[in-house]
Amino acid sequence: MKLEELKCKNCGAIIEVEENAKNVTCKYCNTTFKIKDEDKVDPRKQGYEFEKGRMEAQEEQFRNNIENLGEFNNIARKALNEVFPIFKVFRIVIIVFVIAVFGIVIFTMISSFSGFKSARDRSEKILNEHSAYENRLEERAENILNNF
Ligand SMILES: [Zn+2]
Repeated sequence: MKLEELKCKNCGAIIEVEENAKNVTCKYCNTTFKIKDEDKVDPRKQGYEFEKGRMEAQEEQFRNNIENLGEFNNIARKALNEVFPIFKVFRIVIIVFVIAVFGIVIFTMISSFSGFKSARDRSEKILNEHSAYENRLEERAENILNNF
């Protein structure tokens, strides 16, 4: 025997009845009533209502998301407009800073190289003077020995 579902007129519970039954007693609230076709729950209609509700909820969510996105966009644009002049100045500062750092590094390299070079020249000069002095000392010692 095929069963159908219908909604209790008293308590709203879904109850099962045999297909061609004329009366039904609700097993939840014990009310007996006559069955009319419009009381029967159409599963297709129920599914449709459910699906419609779900889609409406999704649409609502989507609309909210779009609104939020628009608001976020406005905030971001406003913030960007406020920050942009600062950013522009900041960029110039960065460029100047980078150039300055490069300049300092290159200047330090050149000056330390030339300092190194002049120190080497100086020490070479000292070494030469020293060996000349040693030669003179040797010469003098030889002269003294030869005059004995
Ligand atoms: Zn009932």
